[in-house]
This record gives sequence, structure tokens and C-alpha cells, in this order.
Amino acid sequence: MEEHFLSLESPKFETIVVILDASESAENDWAMIVDSAKKIFQKTPAEIKKRLFFLGNSQEYDIEDFEENVSLWRKQNNKRGSFISPVLMTVNNAKIVIIGSGIIYDLEDWADNHKSTKILLVKMSESMRGTHEIGTEIDKDSFDGHQLANPIHSIQIDGEDFMPYYWDNPDYSVSFEGSIALNSSNLKNYSINIAAFGTNIKAKITKSEGKEKISLTSAESHSTDIIELIETNGKSWEKLSSDEEKLFNEHTRADVIKCPTCGCVISGPLRCHNEKGSILGKPIYNSLKEIRGFVIFKDLPEGIYYKQYNPEIIRIDENSVAINKKAKSVIYRYDTNKKKWIQYEDLKPYYPLKGGYYVSIT
Ligand SMILES: [Zn+2]
Repeated sequence: MEEHFLSLESPKFETIVVILDASESAENDWAMIVDSAKKIFQKTPAEIKKRLFFLGNSQEYDIEDFEENVSLWRKQNNKRGSFISPVLMTVNNAKIVIIGSGIIYDLEDWADNHKSTKILLVKMSESMRGTHEIGTEIDKDSFDGHQLANPIHSIQIDGEDFMPYYWDNPDYSVSFEGSIALNSSNLKNYSINIAAFGTNIKAKITKSEGKEKISLTSAESHSTDIIELIETNGKSWEKLSSDEEKLFNEHTRADVIKCPTCGCVISGPLRCHNEKGSILGKPIYNSLKEIRGFVIFKDLPEGIYYKQYNPEIIRIDENSVAINKKAKSVIYRYDTNKKKWIQYEDLKPYYPLKGGYYVSIT
């Protein structure tokens, strides 16, 4: 099985280029043009870069001075024709919004250029593209300035035989429908580091307009070794009390693991189910009462240490993981004949990882 340590950096927003029509054909709509431009400047998030131009002019204007100077800028640009080329030749990698009225004469010259797919024409009175199907033209009434940010709605990470066993962004969750995937939606920060089995691992990004698929960057310098992942991430180790240490030593040497209070057999979470007043059961280690999910024990000469393992999947050997599923944990093994992950038995308490490390669920 291939194993990878991969990174996804939260995708950046596109720049928005706003182009105003100060020509005679838009004269009667000028107040509305200014208004629509203001909507864009105010409503798009601050982290999105915005640039301002006029039709027929490659010079960029400073949006900071928009209110005070826009009338003067209009006069400067009033006699220029309605041409888009001077601006399109200047800008790259941007959403282009043209606010105006009446035909843009050279728009069809850009029909085969990829930039034309990013053009949004906000029509005041008359169409700016006429009969040419270039860009998208919408009416001023259906424009509110919001549509431009093209925010990410969701990201799904999956791949062939994909099985993540470590990730550092808790806002991602695992789904098991069909194939295994890591999902997130409506986040401010989509960045994530992952350790996973599988090949061809990709992120499917759904934006409010369109979808894209990107490969994750492999971070060769990072180890996929589970012990290193445990040691270098999460909270620091805590020490069990001496009574708890005794219990741990008894349990890890016993064939049948029994509750220290009532003697019931413990085969899953480290909890007693005969204790009244607790739905989940009472933790048999008082030190672990705040921990939900996987706990790692480390057996050292000076004592037994523990810490939580946050992801809901952990690697237990070279072709197996344990998945935390509502108060129990189930082992999945990769079947090389069937070429898929198959569910096996429940994870037993104190499952040995290696070198004195054990995993349980609480
Ligand atoms: Zn008990």
C-alpha cells in the first residue's frame, strides 16, 4: 500500500477587475453605474483584491479615492470609445466585471480567449455584447454585488483506495458512502495536512460558480509513521496515577480485561456499563474522563503516559486502520484481491502499535 503525507493550502480568491463605461451610450445610466460599482467594493470580502478601470483605457484607478474622484474620472474617460482590449491586455487571472450600456465594439475579438469566460457584463439599459455569446450578461436588477466572490462551498478529498489516518484540520469529517472521503463545507480555512493510504489523491473544490479538481502536494519531508504523527501532534503527554498505572499493567498482561469496580468484561471502550447515571458508561480511568475517541498509551520505565488522538481513524499496521464509530472502534483491512477496504472485527482494548505504544477507545 502506498502511503503519503499530503498538504492542501486553502485556495486563494480571484482578483476582481471592475470596468466602468463612461461613454455617451451610458450617459443616462451613470448614477446607477457608480452605485453598482460601490456595491461591489462594499460587499466583496476584504481579502479579495479589487481593481478599477474604464473602458478604452489601460490606466488603473485607485478604489480608495472612488467617491471623491469618480466624477472627474468620468470626464477623463468620457470621450474614449467603448473598447475592452486596453484593459484585457493588462489584466490576468481575474474575474472581469463590466458595468455599462451599449455595444463594446471589440468584444468579439476576445471570443476565443480564455479571459472571455470570466467576463460578467452588468447591463444598465442596452446590451453590451449584442448578439455575441461572450461572457455572461445580466440585467442591473439581478445584480447585487455578491455573486463575484465565487466562494468555495465545499471540498472533498478522495482517491484510489484512499484511507486517511491523520489530519490536522478538525473541520473536515470522514464519509464512508461508496468510497472514503474527507469533507468540509463553508469554512474560512480549508488548509489541511493529511497522512493517508491510497494513490491519486485529489481535492474536488465546489465553488458557487463551477468546480475544479486539484492534486494535493506531497510533503516528502513529513513522515507517515504513526508513532511520529502521535509524538509530534496534538496535546502533550500526561501521566497516569499510580493506581491507574497498576490497572494498566494488569490489563495489558491479562487475557480477559475486567472492570476494576464490578468485574464486568471490557471488550471495547474503557468504561464500566454497570454504573448508574451515565449513558456512555463510567470511565475506568479517572484521568481519561475528558477524552472521547482514541487514547494512546505510552509505556515507559518511569510511568504510563497517555494522550488523545484526535482523528477518528488511526493506522494500526501496514494495511489496517481502526475507525472510531459511535462508542466502538472497528478494524478495516485493505484486501489486495478485492482491491478495497474491508471491515473486520472490533478493536480490542490496548491494541499494541509498536515499541510500547497502545491504542484504545474511551
Ligand atoms: Zn464495572
